[in-house]
This record gives sequence, structure tokens and C-alpha cells, in this order.
Amino acid sequence: MALVTLESASELDSRDHLRHLRDEFHIPKHPNPHGSRGADGATDHQAVYLCGNSLGLQPKGTRGLLLEELGVWADQGVYGHHNHPSSRPWIDIDGCVSEEMAKIVGADRSEIAVMGTLTSNLHFLMAAFYRPTDLKYKIIVEEKAFPSDYYAIESQVQWHGLKSSDAIISVSPQPGQHTLDTHDILKVIEDNGASTAMILLPGVQYYTGQLFDIEKITKFARFHDIIVGWDLAHAVGNVELSLHDWQVDFAAWCSYKYLNSGPGGIAGIFVHETRSSQGRLTGWWGHDRASRFKMDNNFVAIPGAGGFQHSNPSVMATVCLLGSLNVFAKTSMKDIREKSVRLTGYMEELLLADEETRGFYEIITPRNPSERGAQLSLLFKHGIMDAVFQKLERAGIIADKREPDVIRVAPAPLYNSFGDVFKFSQEFKEAVLEASRVDGP
Ligand SMILES: *Cc1c(COP(=O)(O)O)cnc(C)c1O
Repeated sequence: MALVTLESASELDSRDHLRHLRDEFHIPKHPNPHGSRGADGATDHQAVYLCGNSLGLQPKGTRGLLLEELGVWADQGVYGHHNHPSSRPWIDIDGCVSEEMAKIVGADRSEIAVMGTLTSNLHFLMAAFYRPTDLKYKIIVEEKAFPSDYYAIESQVQWHGLKSSDAIISVSPQPGQHTLDTHDILKVIEDNGASTAMILLPGVQYYTGQLFDIEKITKFARFHDIIVGWDLAHAVGNVELSLHDWQVDFAAWCSYKYLNSGPGGIAGIFVHETRSSQGRLTGWWGHDRASRFKMDNNFVAIPGAGGFQHSNPSVMATVCLLGSLNVFAKTSMKDIREKSVRLTGYMEELLLADEETRGFYEIITPRNPSERGAQLSLLFKHGIMDAVFQKLERAGIIADKREPDVIRVAPAPLYNSFGDVFKFSQEFKEAVLEASRVDGP
């Protein structure tokens, strides 16, 4: 990539084909507008929001959609299930999001279901796909798995009467490294292929921002007759996915991060079409639509992932997701990713170009754009991270921190600009220099 000069943020913004999509979102206010520097007029009181990896911003269209549903409920009560003025009968409410959702993860529409929440869905999917036998019973995970995923896996193992110390194998980074080497993952798969039932990894690692080679790992694990599941919490809406073509067995994700569906938003699952007859825990919403209300207690599954649904989905949560997917529908994951690679690359270049701050932190996210999404994780010399974070907050930079020493910054291509990234880099420099003076190592 060509080196971008410091002055070129506005030029980069003017050449950005997705620039107009920022207007589709509410940008949070600067918590401390009087403390802000810079003379960019109208945008001065907006915060620089770099936290879309944790909670995506609210699309402007979402409020109207929610109000419409409240109106239908107020005016029509139960009739809203079938009679809906905006053609979103609640009985098939997921129909308004499933096509775009399938596109975003690279699946056939029948291979995904919009339902529930992430950790619960992981449990349901493991109930279906993790079937340990005497010989094949282990689960391969990463050493630093997100706690909720780890608890889910550990409790599944125990639920089957197994010991986690025996049944869970974790892949660790090489000594002195922060990220995992694909070869090491493949090696662990190869060494444990005979005794392993399932592998469950994140598409993008929440702490380091590492994007795994989903296709390669999936192919290799399947060759060893291992069920392959992916947690795509930080990957969905962030990087291009082709779950169907990659022959992933199952996947799950939440939608409030890069998919901007709002806090606690409705989640999604993927079940490959070749796995849709897998035994599973069931509920009435997974029952064939035409006969669901016959109430005869003979379960007939909806073909595909739909058969894994349990409850009628939250209409409010589903239209919140719709508000965001309407924005995604104006572009493509290809274009989003293309901007994202440039935007994150620009941030990395600005950070690395600054020699004064270089000694106080390191970027632990892979340098190779094909091994990361929108996030950079900055690991500080011990003792200064909190001070840097506070100073950033005071300057109107919204990021997030992970104890003990990491700040994560994620320029989200749908609403972040090159100008945001430039402003961040300036405030970052001041924050690091001040923090290191006061609290210095
Ligand atoms: C965000 C995230 C979760 C959150 O789980 P919920 O069930 O939505 O609360 C779980 N796992 C990973 C890897 C995440 O990044």
C-alpha cells in the first residue's frame, strides 16, 4: 500500500465511495465539547467513535421502524401477526432480514436463522453438533477464548460427564507472540485428529483482532473428520465470509457489534445445508410453517437452519437489525471490506509514523491486512494504559480497553471517516506523551 501523507485525510474522504453512509448513523456527541481541539466546525462536537467492535452505532432508520411496530401493536394488537401495514407480518418477521443476513455471511438463505442470542445459540448448536464418543470426544479451542465461549464449551463438556482438563485442547501462540500461527492450529488438529470431535474458534479474535484463515482451517479439520464451528461475533459485518463455500458446519454471531442492531440485539446462526438433518433441541418455531399451528405434537423441521429455531423472535429486536441491514443493502461486503482495509491501514501508518510514541506501546494485531479486520489492539507498557484511555476519553475519542494493558480501536467503514482516524492519531499522540510523562514507566 502506498504511504499516505498526514495531510491527506480529507482527500481520502473525498475519494471514499462509502462516505455518504456515515449520514445514515447517529454519531455520539463529544462528552466534553469544550475540551476538544481542532477547527472542523460542525463536526467538532461529535465524538470520534472507534468502538464499533463492541457496540455499533444506531442507524437513523431504526427509530422509525421501532415506532412503526409500536404503532401496529397499539392499533391492531394480535392482528399484527398477519395484518401488517408495512408488509412485515410478525409471524414471518425474520423474513425481512434473512436475505441480507445470508448475503453478509456468504450463505444460502435457508442456511441461516436470525434468532436468540449468541451464547445461548452456541449452546444449542453444540447440543446438536457436539456428540462425543469414547474415541472422539475432544474440543479444540484457542487458549485465550472469549470467556463466554469458554464457559459454554467447558459446561458442554461437563454436561456430557467429561473432564474439561482432558477434553478441551487449547492452541496457544508461540512464546513471545500474541497471535496464533495457522500452522500451529493445523498441527494441533493433526496431532489430535483421532480423538477430537469438534473445533470451535473465533473468526476474528476479540482481543488481538486476528482474522483466522477460516477456509483453510475448516478444510483441514473436516479432512480429520472433525465438526467445525465458528464464532463470528467480531467477523460478521467486518470481513467477507463465504460460509457455504468454505463448508463450515455451523457458525453463530451476535449482531450488535459491526452489524449495529443495538444492545442485546438478535443473533444469528448458520448450519451448512449438508448438516441440516442433524439432530437438535427443538421448539415450535423450528416446525414447518404450514403445519405449525395444527398443534399435533409431531415435529416436522423447517428444512435448513430454520429448523433450529425455538421461539418466535423478538419483533422489536428484529426490526432494529433491519434498520442496519437496510444500510448494508446499499453497498456490499466487498466494498465495505475494501474501504476497511484502507481505513485500518491508514490508522496503522499514522501510528507507526510517530517516533515519539513508538516506545510506549505495540500493535499486537497482525500487520497483514488479510489477517485482521477493522480493529487494531494496542498493548501498552505496563502501567500507562488507563491514563492514556482517560485522556482519549476526555478528548472525545471513544474506544475500549481490556485489562490489563490493551486499548482496542476499530474504525468501522460504514460510519468512520479518514478524518476520524487522523483526529484519533493526533489525540493519541498527546495522550501517550502526557500519560508517559505523568505516570511514565
Ligand atoms: C461479543 C461476544 C460474545 C457475547 O455473547 P452474548 O451471548 O451476545 O452476550 C460472545 N463471544 C464472543 C467471541 C464475543 O465476541
